[in-house]
Amino acid sequence: MAVQTPFYYYDLALLENTLQALNDAIPSSKFKVHYAVKANAEDRILQTIQRYGLGADCVSGNEITKSIACGFNPSEIVLAGVGKSDAELHTAISNGIHSINCESIEELEVINEIAEQNNRVANISFRINPNVDAKTHHKITTGLSENKFGIPISEVSRAIAEIRKMEFLSLSGIHFHIGSQILSMDPFIKLCNQVNTLLDEIEGEGIQLDHINVGGGLGIDYLNPDQNPIPDFEKYFAVFHEHLNVRDGQTVHFELGRSVVAQCGSLITKVLYVKKGATKNFAIVDAGMTELIRPALYDSYHEMENITADSLLGTDNYSVVGPICESSDVFGELEMPITKRGDLIKIKSAGAYGQVLSSNYNLRDSAKAYYSDKNELTSWVGSEKKETSLT
Ligand SMILES: *Cc1c(COP(=O)(O)O)cnc(C)c1O
Repeated sequence: MAVQTPFYYYDLALLENTLQALNDAIPSSKFKVHYAVKANAEDRILQTIQRYGLGADCVSGNEITKSIACGFNPSEIVLAGVGKSDAELHTAISNGIHSINCESIEELEVINEIAEQNNRVANISFRINPNVDAKTHHKITTGLSENKFGIPISEVSRAIAEIRKMEFLSLSGIHFHIGSQILSMDPFIKLCNQVNTLLDEIEGEGIQLDHINVGGGLGIDYLNPDQNPIPDFEKYFAVFHEHLNVRDGQTVHFELGRSVVAQCGSLITKVLYVKKGATKNFAIVDAGMTELIRPALYDSYHEMENITADSLLGTDNYSVVGPICESSDVFGELEMPITKRGDLIKIKSAGAYGQVLSSNYNLRDSAKAYYSDKNELTSWVGSEKKETSLT
């Protein structure tokens, strides 16, 4: 079979083990997890996640349509986004999704109009900016006052006054999302404290909410993916179980993306050339920032491994770089077995914000996805050892 590199490779067994661990770690029947579709929207990934009972957290109309096509029930779909278009709101309302996370007072009026056109009452959650520092990379911090997301806490009263006037809206929850790749539990504890204060305030206005959505953001171990393939969901959920003052009848929603899918995906790329530069060796590979932009965009680290090298020949240091005409098109530097043209390099932990952020810059072809359960690559990789090193 003709297999084109680069390609994404998904270990479905690891995805299922992760989902099982997540479900086992949920400490309360009041907790409901929605998968953040933007992290990876491959059909087979979505279908697998749906089978484990998660809902879907969408940030576009197309994500809603895709989630429904992959089996998610509209009543378990939520929509967020600072700039939802009228068409996207139509999609959300006409499908009767669980709730729309509203990010501004102006948006309330638009949703009310579109709900009226659909002759339906839309359930609204206020997405609130809690001004909590997630202490993560500044480009994936979303819950600070300076970020564009959410309604400021100081505006919540006014938003409540507005929504009371709107016939086709019903306020059913509050929503937060402070950022991504968060490994310390402290920001989540701070978030709980903010939510508790706000819940008192909102109840003071005579409103009973049916859910609190605390967003996502749980990080993964990019440094040791083989040793720690599954995040500590227990520790994460325990924070909310312990610190959030949930009222009777209220549910707590989570929107996890990265922690569910990051470790099950790798990007497999072939070495095109090995070049001795003036100060270092470059391993020039056929994948670039067009397939995986995280290192260029967020300075992120991905562990890499040459899965075809002959380890008896010794090692050397390499800067692994892509073919794109941008100096930021670099995956990282590492010591590897002596590497040559034709070797395969596995770039790990690429299941989240990898394939979905692909582009066709330089008019590049789109990378395909392969799945571990199909044995499509056995003959191509050539030997048992190489096949197992894919996963
Ligand atoms: C991206 C996003 C998430 C998921 O974040 P992860 O860090 O991948 O868990 C959850 N909620 C909202 C609103 C988002 O935009």
